[in-house]
Amino acid sequence: MIPFSPPRIDERTVEAVAEALRSGWITTGPRTKEFERQLASYCGVERVVALNSWTNACELVLRWFGIGPGDEVILPAYTYCASANIVEHVGAIPVLVDILDDFTLDPDDVARKLSPATKCIMPVDVGGLPARIDKIMALAEGQRASFHPAAGSIPQELLGRPLVLSDAAHSFGARIGGRPVGSQADITGFSFHAVKNLTTAEGGALAFHLPEAFDAEELYRWFNVMSLHGQSKDALAKNQPGAWRYDVTAPGYKCNMTDLQAAIGLVELERYDRETLPRRRAICERYQAAFSSDERFLEPVLMDEGRTSSFHLYMLRVREAGEEQRDAIITAIAERGVSVNVHFQPLPLLSHYRDRGYAIGDVPNAYRQYAREISLPVYYDLSDDQVDQVITAVKEAVQEVLG
Ligand SMILES: *Cc1c(COP(=O)(O)O)cnc(C)c1O
Repeated sequence: MIPFSPPRIDERTVEAVAEALRSGWITTGPRTKEFERQLASYCGVERVVALNSWTNACELVLRWFGIGPGDEVILPAYTYCASANIVEHVGAIPVLVDILDDFTLDPDDVARKLSPATKCIMPVDVGGLPARIDKIMALAEGQRASFHPAAGSIPQELLGRPLVLSDAAHSFGARIGGRPVGSQADITGFSFHAVKNLTTAEGGALAFHLPEAFDAEELYRWFNVMSLHGQSKDALAKNQPGAWRYDVTAPGYKCNMTDLQAAIGLVELERYDRETLPRRRAICERYQAAFSSDERFLEPVLMDEGRTSSFHLYMLRVREAGEEQRDAIITAIAERGVSVNVHFQPLPLLSHYRDRGYAIGDVPNAYRQYAREISLPVYYDLSDDQVDQVITAVKEAVQEVLG
C-alpha cells in the first residue's frame, strides 16, 4: 500500500532528538528559541513564537485580540474543523463564506458577510496555495469606519479594524509575489502537525506582521507568558541560580513547544528549501503533466502570476463525478494499493456545524468542489515510480466507476 502522507524521519532526525534528550533540557529552551529565530528569518518578520499546535496558537491570538461572545469571525466553509472550532472556544460566531474554484475563500463573499460585529477574517491557504491576501487586507482596511473596539481591548484599539489571521497550516514556504508566506497577514499561523509539509510531530507557530503601533518584542513576550500559565518567567529563566521567584499576571494557558519538538523542526527547516520543497514540487508537477492532458480531470492551481504553492496537497478533481461516484472511485483506488484522502468536508457537512444551523446550500461552490475532490499522496520519500503507480490507479479507478 502506498501511504498518503508519512513524515520524513531519518537518522538525522533521530540523532537530533537524541541529542536534545542527552542535553538534559527537554522542555522549552535553547532549541525552541533557535527554531523561532530561524522561522522568523525564513518568513522575513521580526518575531515568530513557536507553540504546541496551530490550534492552540491561533486560539491564543483570538484571546489576545479580545474576541468573545457576540463577535463574528469570517472564514471559509472549506477548511479543517480547527479553524472554526477555535472561534467557538472563545464564544464568538463563525461566519462561513464560499470558495473560489482554486479552493481559497471568495473575497466577494467576504465583502458580503462583513458587519460591524466582524472582529477577524481568517483566510485559509488550502492545499498550500495562498489565499487572495491583498484583497482580504483591503477589505479589513475598509472596515475602519464601522469598527468598534471592545472595551478594554488594547489590540483592538491599536489596530482599529478587523484582524487578519491567516490559516497557513498548509502553506509554510509558499510564496506571494516572491516572498514567503508570513509577512502578508497581520498574524500568520503555521501547523507542524505530523502530516504537514514541515513537522515537529505536533506543533505550530505564529508570525507577527502587525502595523508599527505594535511592538514585536512586547507581542512575543505576551505570547510566551500566556502560553505558560501567565508566569513571568519560563522554566529556563527560573533555572538560573537564585532566580526561583516569579509572578502570575493573568490566568494563562499551557501550549508551549518543547525542545524535543524544536529539535525535529530545526532538521526539517535546514533541508526545507533544498530538499523538501523541490521534491514535493516535482511530485506535483508529475501529477500535473499526467492529469492536465486528460479532460476527465481538473487539476489544482499550483502557481499563478502572484502565488506559488508550498505543494502540500495535490487536490485533483474528477470533472463529472458527484459525491457518491467520488467515494466509489476512492474505494477503487484503495483496491489498487493507494491511499488517498479528501480535503475537506465543508464545515456544514459536520454534525456540530449542521446542528448549529449552517447549511451546505449556502456555500454551493464549496460543496461542488468537495464532491469531486481527491487528494493524492505527496511526501518526500514518494518515488517517481510510485507517483506513476498512483496515476495509473487513479485513471483505472475513474474508468471503472464512470466508464
Ligand atoms: C492541520 C490544520 C489545522 C490544525 O493544525 P494543528 O497544528 O493540528 O492544530 C488548522 N487548519 C488547517 C487548514 C489544517 O489543515
